[in-house]
Amino acid sequence: MTSTTRETSGRPYEECGVVGIWGAPDAAALAALGLHALQHRGQEAAGIVTHDGERFWQHKGLGLVGDVFSDARMMGTLKGKSAIGHNRYATTGGTLLRNVQPLYADFEFGGLAVAHNGNLTNAATLRRALVKRGCLFQSTTDTEVFVHLIAISLYATVLERLVDAAKQVKGAYSVVALTPDFLIGLRDPLGVRPLILGRVADGGWMLASETCALDIVGAEFVRNVEPGEMVIIDDEGIRSLRPFGKTSPRFCVFEYIYFARPDSILEDHSVYEARKQIGVELARESGVEADVIVPVPDSGVPSAMGYAAESGIPFEMGIIRNHYVGRTFIEPTDQIRNLGVRMKHSANAPALRGKRVVLVDDSIVRGTTSRKIVDMVRAAGATEVHMRISSPPTRHPCFYGIDTPEESQLLAATHSVAQMAEAIGVDSLAFISFDGLYRALGHDDRADAEGRYCDACFTGDYPIELVDKEGHLVS
Ligand code: SF4
Repeated sequence: MTSTTRETSGRPYEECGVVGIWGAPDAAALAALGLHALQHRGQEAAGIVTHDGERFWQHKGLGLVGDVFSDARMMGTLKGKSAIGHNRYATTGGTLLRNVQPLYADFEFGGLAVAHNGNLTNAATLRRALVKRGCLFQSTTDTEVFVHLIAISLYATVLERLVDAAKQVKGAYSVVALTPDFLIGLRDPLGVRPLILGRVADGGWMLASETCALDIVGAEFVRNVEPGEMVIIDDEGIRSLRPFGKTSPRFCVFEYIYFARPDSILEDHSVYEARKQIGVELARESGVEADVIVPVPDSGVPSAMGYAAESGIPFEMGIIRNHYVGRTFIEPTDQIRNLGVRMKHSANAPALRGKRVVLVDDSIVRGTTSRKIVDMVRAAGATEVHMRISSPPTRHPCFYGIDTPEESQLLAATHSVAQMAEAIGVDSLAFISFDGLYRALGHDDRADAEGRYCDACFTGDYPIELVDKEGHLVS
């Protein structure tokens, strides 16, 4: 990913959610519902490919899942008991239909559909080499690199070719792939991006980025796909391959702080509980005299609840979020960014007037959104505004599937905490410490969590080699 600046709300965005279904009637409907539950992971496009035992069917479109899959007649064309689906958040190259996943290709061994969440850090390097060998790319997605690697592999079976391709790519990814004979789920060796396995009611199987996608269809959580594991699901059940040997997990800690839905369970931790506990730790570390604790909705809510409970200061919904703000028409100009914040958040003045307010938010990226929210809260009559952030300062871009601005655009990369406080106009500003963050995730302290998570956007310690940092392509 080139860290271009697609963000319109001043927050980093997740890029993509995936689902896979095997052996379930109405596989397309289950996949669509799963994608709907994963809508927070990508809002620009969605796609589903199914297989009915004889042939593949597909439908893709730009927009939200509910719009792309709203036509009952079209849904009826997505036949079969197996499906994979994808929600896309594009970072570069614009939102083009040809980039919308899953990608489908016909090989000498038959058809294959593939979708992935995350970014390959050597996609540009591999792509250049593949183009030199005569491969003709149809899209700018990293997923197509996988497709071409499979196509040129000298191995005989699709599984061997997939393993061969997986061994050549570097990056953070969760892949779902569908053939006429099986469904595949693959997590990168460090398991940076999530992928979970569930059982649907009538005996079928489901893969998804988060457990909230299982919940929406009443599927039962079975287990996480392990880092570096390839699961192969067919009518006989599940097999597991370990193409990379033994690996050490480095799960993305930002999934807990911001990206995942709070009702999801990731790597056996409740996202909601983790966020609440971060709020508790924040209150212990950086408590301040105040009258109300106010979350910046939505992701700041659980941490604000934890902060309020620990501090004994009342929790108030002093900011109301409008959930019906469309994104497609908000172009990222400065003028529209200003407008966007007011469209998305409004101050609930009676809860703020004459009060000393602690605002709890999940992160500060550029600082522009924070500044506007603080100004809005003051304009509503708050006498003091203190900001508490449930992540450490975001000082580095993510190259593993999250759209963040380049380093020079990150407020924390160029400002001290005191300077940041001045820039966003608060009376005080504090971030959760690494010890506090990892205590909230069940560890004794930072040292106890050492080497278990990716926290590169806070530390700059990138656990996966950034082979082609420049010119990286879209997931
Ligand atoms: S750099 Fe940050 S956002 Fe990206 S994978 Fe690592 S922790 Fe997650």
